[in-house]
Amino acid sequence: MSHERFVTRFAPAPTGWLHLGHVLNAEHVWGRIASSSLPGEKQRRVLLRIEDHDRERCRPEYEAGILEDLAWLGYVWEAPLVRQSERDAIYRHAVSVLAGQGLVYACDCTRRAIEERTSRDKAAPDGALPGELRYPGRCRDRGIAVTDGVGWRVRMDPGVERFVDAQLGPQEQDPSQQCGDVLIRDRLGNWTYQFAASVDDFAQGIDVVIRGADLLASTGRQIRLARLLGRDAPATFQHHRLMMKSATQKLSKSDGATGIRDLRARGLSAVGAQRLVRSA
Ligand code: GLU
Repeated sequence: MSHERFVTRFAPAPTGWLHLGHVLNAEHVWGRIASSSLPGEKQRRVLLRIEDHDRERCRPEYEAGILEDLAWLGYVWEAPLVRQSERDAIYRHAVSVLAGQGLVYACDCTRRAIEERTSRDKAAPDGALPGELRYPGRCRDRGIAVTDGVGWRVRMDPGVERFVDAQLGPQEQDPSQQCGDVLIRDRLGNWTYQFAASVDDFAQGIDVVIRGADLLASTGRQIRLARLLGRDAPATFQHHRLMMKSATQKLSKSDGATGIRDLRARGLSAVGAQRLVRSA
């Protein structure tokens, strides 16, 4: 795929230390930048976005550790670093754009209530994220005030989003079937990943999104949200394989044995860590 500009991002959530799964993602992100034939620094950029939208789970010491480990690994990003926790005004403006189209409503359903109302069996709907419930739309027309203390959702009308993943080929996703109306802000006032990432990828001019295959099911709704926000041409996407702990279990942040700081302390080199993820 050819691009005139190649602006991508590395977007860790500071809910834990940097681990080998992040390094695999970083190798894809910086590897594609390095192999891009575009001339000049301006057209080839990696931005660093700290996805600290979840105030309950993110910690400043994790962010500091992530930055230190990335620098140790030798990845260079373009300043300024962006933190989602500092972008409330940008997200509020985006809500106003969607609200102007009559697409935003408040929802007081708890997860349990949604579970009870959905007639689905325990399996996730087709093409959904693991553990994801399809919101059945109960609060759509209840006229609840869009204020703090309730969730905020965006209507997802039926419609298929098509895109060609640079690694996985042609994809089709209908967000109204996968997740229903997308939660954009929770009852505690946290912006959700889906919304913050969609707004930021658009606002930051990200035209290539490179991330693990566990986020593939998010892409259709992110393309949709960006279009509703006014984005003409969607970003392009590449979803790569994940680092696995075993054949069926993906690495998680609690897998201390794969944490970069621990591996560093045990004498692993930066090149050694990069070699490890490429061969895993
Ligand atoms: N913040 C997400 C994560 O750490 C990455 C999201 C994305 O690349 O879209 O898994």
